[in-house]
This record gives sequence, structure tokens and C-alpha cells, in this order.
Amino acid sequence: MFDTLLIANRGEIACRVMETARKMGIRSVAVFSDADTMSRHVTKADEAHHIGPPPASQSYLDADKVLAAAKASGARAIHPGYGFLSENAAFAEACDAAGIIFVGPPPSAIRAMGEKHAAKALMVESGVPVVPGYHEEDQDDDVLKKAADGIGYPVLIKATSGGGGKGMRRVDSADEFAGALAGARREGKNSFGDDRVLIEKYLEIPRHIEVQVFADNHGNAVYLFERDCSLQRRHQKVIEEAPAPDLSPDIRKAMGEAAVKAALAIGYRGAGTIEFIVDVSNGLADAPFYFMEMNTRLQVEHPVTEMITGVDLVEWQLRVASGEPLPLRQEELSITGHAMEVRIYAENPVKGFLPSTGLLKRLRFPDAGPHVRIDTGVEEGDEVTPYYDPMIAKLIVWDEDRNRALRRLRTALQNTQVVGVKTNTAFLSRIAVNSDFADANLDTGFIERHIAELVPEPGATPVRALAISALAILLERANEAAFSALGNGDPTSPWHQVDGWRMNDDGHDEIKLVDDEEVITIPVRYMPDGYQMTIDDQILKVNGELEAGDHIVANIDGVRIVATVLHDAAGVTVIDAGHVYQIGVYDVLAAAEVDDTSTGGVVAPLPGKVVAVLTEAGISVDKGTPLMIVEAMKMEHTITAPADGLVDEVLFAVGDSVDEGSVLVDFKISEA
Ligand code: ADP
Ligand code: ADP
Ligand code: MG
Repeated sequence: MFDTLLIANRGEIACRVMETARKMGIRSVAVFSDADTMSRHVTKADEAHHIGPPPASQSYLDADKVLAAAKASGARAIHPGYGFLSENAAFAEACDAAGIIFVGPPPSAIRAMGEKHAAKALMVESGVPVVPGYHEEDQDDDVLKKAADGIGYPVLIKATSGGGGKGMRRVDSADEFAGALAGARREGKNSFGDDRVLIEKYLEIPRHIEVQVFADNHGNAVYLFERDCSLQRRHQKVIEEAPAPDLSPDIRKAMGEAAVKAALAIGYRGAGTIEFIVDVSNGLADAPFYFMEMNTRLQVEHPVTEMITGVDLVEWQLRVASGEPLPLRQEELSITGHAMEVRIYAENPVKGFLPSTGLLKRLRFPDAGPHVRIDTGVEEGDEVTPYYDPMIAKLIVWDEDRNRALRRLRTALQNTQVVGVKTNTAFLSRIAVNSDFADANLDTGFIERHIAELVPEPGATPVRALAISALAILLERANEAAFSALGNGDPTSPWHQVDGWRMNDDGHDEIKLVDDEEVITIPVRYMPDGYQMTIDDQILKVNGELEAGDHIVANIDGVRIVATVLHDAAGVTVIDAGHVYQIGVYDVLAAAEVDDTSTGGVVAPLPGKVVAVLTEAGISVDKGTPLMIVEAMKMEHTITAPADGLVDEVLFAVGDSVDEGSVLVDFKISEA
């Protein structure tokens, strides 16, 4: 076994690989870009090498820089993770040439599966069933159109080099074909530099079931059962589970053996996944399954397989890469219990799942243990940048059966707190409580069919969350007043009272909150035992206490609630029963409460394009000074300084696209 491993990746997968390396007594070497100098994968590694600026093409995808770091660190092997260089045959070859072990299959196997059409042709030869369709080299428009007509609509056009759900177009009738073909070619060209396509029969009610395979250098190959990845949005996986619900042992075996056959056909080595599409339009019992593609790497969703088999797949990868035989034979592998994984993304479901960036002001997960596993590459205080995949974490649960695992999932999601970026956790929670999901009525159309129930309505923060916010503000004021009264001679002075005392008044006040740009005025009356608030025409009796750890114990009309409240310059964040509510505070004083040394980012209010940069790093500006102009939805928006301060760094240039929430300018607020 080699003693030093370079991990040519970042984020959760780099951290996950390091954990196994450490367990095996192998030194971990990380690589990082300028955007990742303080990232978790860097601080976790035994040694870390800087490899360039933030764009992946100049850092994580730059094979020469990665190899140079490997040589400089004395690494004997490179684990590519997933994405980036993991399915790059030329990189695998370059590793070989440099005498460094590429932890993955031989370059020839990567090539054989890299192009979907060639892979399918190979599978046909090896007797593995494929989706009926056209997968020849001839890319003539008429040839393709005739092929589609022959297959019968609907058909699916796929980019030959596609991945991550990109470059696909469903075509429902002959007259839509030409337009869809042009679209798929354009996307293939732009995303993968390859405009070739293949055509498949479009299955209307399919399940995505994939098989984990493993092969070594000694002629052994096994399958580690299947994962059901049917819960998808736009052909991208959202929830994965293992084993596939209701799959019969016979079909499991048939799929497993077909997958092993596919791997052997290309001289495979290491971990790989054969993705099958299963036509469940007539149920699952005798459903036909077809080879879709092979991913020649470790998969994002590999943890569910680890949870049900007890195998550490990364350990197997490292053993096989160093020449050892597979640790277990097929008969020694079995399934125990049920596992589910959800992918927690920094994205905004309410705004079409737009990626969201920003500072992770709070990041808390349920405690890990035999039932819960958290794979993440970020920590509280880290930033989600626009440069890489916006996945924050994978939350994986295990229990003896699917129902119990599902209950674990619900609880785990409720105990997940992410503040600072928008996330899909509420969306995932809604899937987890959906009765069709509980009944395992799965197919790839599930999310689209249920989208109205799964995506929360924008705006309208519940009264309860507004009451908790108002209470938190009132309690904070009370604490502050009590504190300042202590340092003053006369604690009984009316100037230190916070019961709304005013001349000629009887204890009234109001709290102004901002909910999705709407100002909500909450009249408050000070009572001997708390507050009376009027919210949305409801009169509530509210009292409570602020506790350590950002907790608040609130009593609202006799109901005791423990919630989490964070109050900062951005407003109040309430986390109540797993839901995160971001509520603004309409109060000029609040802006002045900003921590003196705080740094901040000026963020894009909506997705758009930078049309002018009006400042530069190192310049001191007054509050309101224009910094940048972003064009979005055909309008220009001037981005101004949020306070007096210093421009630390300008992060975008004219012509760059920005997402909503992207930090445009790093900004340091002046000390008061
Ligand atoms: P999985 O089935 O493991 O989700 P995907 O094909 O969706 O596989 O991709 C896994 C990871 O690789 C994702 O993070 C995705 O963003 C990334 N990825 C997929 N295709 C590419 C590509 N062509 N280039 C770079 N990264 C990619
Ligand atoms: P990618 O390389 O982007 O992962 P795949 O070929 O694996 O592309 O397909 C991604 C997803 O698209 C599948 O998981 C499935 O949901 C859907 N899909 C693929 N082929 C078909 C098909 N023939 N009919 C219906 N849906 C399909
Ligand atoms: Mg796929």
C-alpha cells in the first residue's frame, strides 16, 4: 500500500476520501484554489498545495498543476473523487506516465464508457440490454430524424458526451424534432465540446436503478447491489436509497449480473456504477431494465451502499489501486437494512432552484452515529462561492427497514440548520413526509408531478415565526436595558425601563418587521407577565426567555416552543421545527448594531450580468456610493455601498454573469 495519497478534488468528497486514508494510515495531500484557502478539505489534510485561481479550468481541472503537486508532495497515488478529472482518460494516462497510481479504472475503460453511444454499442455486443434507440456515428440531420420516426415518439435526444443531466431533450412529436436536435447539439457543444447525439425511446414511467460494481486486477468482479435514484429534478438526483424498494431478489440478481458482465466487457478495475433505466409502466414485478450508461468513478450517492453493505468503498478503491484483490466475494456480500441520502444544496426552490451563495452563518447537523451520517466539505463560517457545485452536505440515514429509515430522515432534516444561504431542506422535508414517497410510489416523474406541494409558497411567514422574532427583539432590548441600568446609579430611573413607558401613554410599543419586502407592524402592549402582540389581526399573549446557544423559549398563547433565533445586521432568522425563516427588521438602529470589525459582502439582488464596475479594491467609500451596475431582467440595478467602509475585493468583472446572492464586492465596514 502507498503511504501518501493526493486527492484531486475539493468539498465533501475530498474530506470523505481523507477520512478513509487516515483510518488506513495513509497521508493525505490536498490541492486547493484561491477560493478554498481555508476550506475544510485543506485544513483536514496532512499537507495542502495551492494550484491556482478559483475557476476550475485553472485549478482543479488543470491536470499539469495537479500532477506537479503530486510530485512535489511525494504522493504515490491520486484519488480524483467525482466530477473534475475523475472521468478524464488523458489524465489517467498522464498519471501512468508519471509513475503515479490513478485510483480508478484503466484509461481504456474510461474511454469505452465515456461516450454514451459507443458504450451502448459495446453493451449490445456483450449481450447487456440497452434502451431501444439510435447510437451510430452518422450525425446527418435526416438520418437522425428517420431514426427518431422509426423509434416512435416520444424520444429522448442525448448529448453523446453528456453528464449531470445536461444536453438532453425530450421530443413528443416529429415536428418538434429539428428544434430539439439543435438545442441538444448546442448544449452538448457548450458544456462538453461535443455536439454529437444519440436518440433513445423515451420511457414515460421509469425508475432509475443503478448497480455498484467493483473489480480488481486479479479477474474478480462483484456487485454491491443497487441504489434507487428515481427522485430526480431535471434528470439530476435529489434523493437516493438502497436497496431499491420492492425490487425482487430475482431482478436484483439479474441486474447485478448484467452489471458485472458490462464491467468485465471493458476490462474494468475499481469502483464503477452501471445505471439502468427500468420501465415500470406495468409495475416492477417483471419490469424490463436497460443499460443507460456507466459512471467510471465513485458516485456521489455511494454512502447508501456503504450503509447497507458495511463496506468502505474508498478503502476498497485504495486496496484495489495498490494491487490487492477484492476483500470479499459475491457470496460474502449481503444487504442489511435500508439507507437513504438527501443532497442538501445552496439553492432557492422558490426561485426555480437558483443556486444561492453567501456566508454560512449557521450550519448545524444532527449528531452522527450508527443511524445518521453527514458528509460535508463546509463548516459554519465558510462561504458558498459561485465557483463550484453548490452542494452543502449529504445527509445519510440508516435503519432496519425503509419506514424506520424514513422516520430517521424526517428527524434528521428537522435537526439540520443552515442559515446564510437559501437551501432545499424544506423541499426535502416535504418529500420525506409525502405519502406517495412513503409508499415508495417512485418514478423519475415524482418530483415534477408533486412540485406544487413540494415547493413552499414564497413570502407569507407564519404568525408564529413573526411572534418569535418580535419576542426575541423585545427580550434583547430588555436585557440591554437591564445591563445599562446596572452601570448607572439609578436602576429605577424611568429612562432604563423598557416597558414602553412614555409620558401620557400606557405601555404601548410597536415592532416593525420586514417579510419579503412587506413591512409588518406589530403593536405590542406591555403586560405584567409578558407582551400582548397583534399580528395579522390575531391577538397573542407572548412571553419567554433567551437562552444560551441562540435558543429562545417562547410561550405563545399557552404553547411552549423552543426555537433558535439569530439576530444580526441582516435581520432575524428563526429556526422553528426545522424551518428557517428570514425576517427583516425595519429599524434604522439595527444597521448601526453591526459589529465594528465585521466584514461583509455586497451581494447581487437577482441573477444578471455585470455591465459596469465603478470601484476597485482598496478604495474607501461612503454609504450609498455606487459600486457596480448589474443588468437583470432588462433593467439596470445600481449596487451601492451598504455603509461607510473599504472595498476589499471586487469579485466580478464587466460581462460576468452573477447569481442571486452572489457576493459582488468584499466589503469592510468602517469602525464607528
Ligand atoms: P452522479 O450520478 O454521481 O450524481 P453526475 O453525473 O450527476 O453523477 O455528476 C456527479 C458530479 O460530477 C456532480 O458534482 C457533477 O456536477 C459533476 N459532473 C458531472 N458531469 C461533469 C462534467 N462533464 N464535468 C465536470 N463535472 C461534472
Ligand atoms: P447523465 O449522463 O446526464 O447522468 P443519463 O443517461 O444517465 O445522463 O440520464 C439521466 C437521467 O435522465 C436518468 O436518470 C433518467 O431519469 C433520465 N433518462 C435517461 N434516459 C431516459 C429514457 N430513455 N427515458 C426516460 N428517461 C430517461
Ligand atoms: Mg447518469
